[in-house]
Amino acid sequence: MLIAELYTSLQGEGRLTGTPSVFVRASGCNLRCWFCDTPFTSWQPEGEDWSLEEIVHQVQAKQTSHVVITGGEPMLYSEMVPLTQELKRLGLHITIETAGTLHLEVACDLMSISPKLASSTPSVARAGRWAARHERVRHQPHVIRKMIAEYDYQLKFVIDSESDFAELDSWLEEFPEVRPERVLLMPQGTKLEELAARSAWLAPFCAARGFQLCPRKHIEWYGATRGT
Ligand code: SF4
Repeated sequence: MLIAELYTSLQGEGRLTGTPSVFVRASGCNLRCWFCDTPFTSWQPEGEDWSLEEIVHQVQAKQTSHVVITGGEPMLYSEMVPLTQELKRLGLHITIETAGTLHLEVACDLMSISPKLASSTPSVARAGRWAARHERVRHQPHVIRKMIAEYDYQLKFVIDSESDFAELDSWLEEFPEVRPERVLLMPQGTKLEELAARSAWLAPFCAARGFQLCPRKHIEWYGATRGT
């Protein structure tokens, strides 16, 4: 499994914000969001091929109760099945961060799904053939439906502008079983100023609809740096 980094930090996003965790960041992604904040796992994937034993050993060495498997897109790797089974056997709480386009029978305590809206699609000028591929792959309703039926989950949408709201509404209409409190809206951006500017119009929208505003606390705590 191609691993870009493995480190301990506090979970900065979502329901477990503030929880000390070990982060295992898989490299490689089947999407190419123009705003990707980990381009070293997507646009220019980096990393080394680690064995499952090595990953488990390194996770155990960090001595945390929570592990977050993130990416890139970790669900690209079939090794996720034995890896998560072993981490579960060791008693760890497992969060998987995924865009929700690929399904595997993994062990998972919190499926943190970040579906990508049309505003994530890169330009042809920047991405070439990846622009059409991204647009074709980014929404896989059968995968989302299976994930939210099988796992405890949160849905974390990256919101770039208020024009995303109409697509968000039609996305949620496809999944009437999703309660509003499962929906987290995260402002797009990696700089505090842009996050604050977007949160100013996102917060009242969340309040009106019963969604959670999802700040990116790790950027506030550490800045947009690797290993945090
Ligand atoms: S799905 Fe995530 S890792 Fe992949 S390109 Fe989009 S933001 Fe980056």
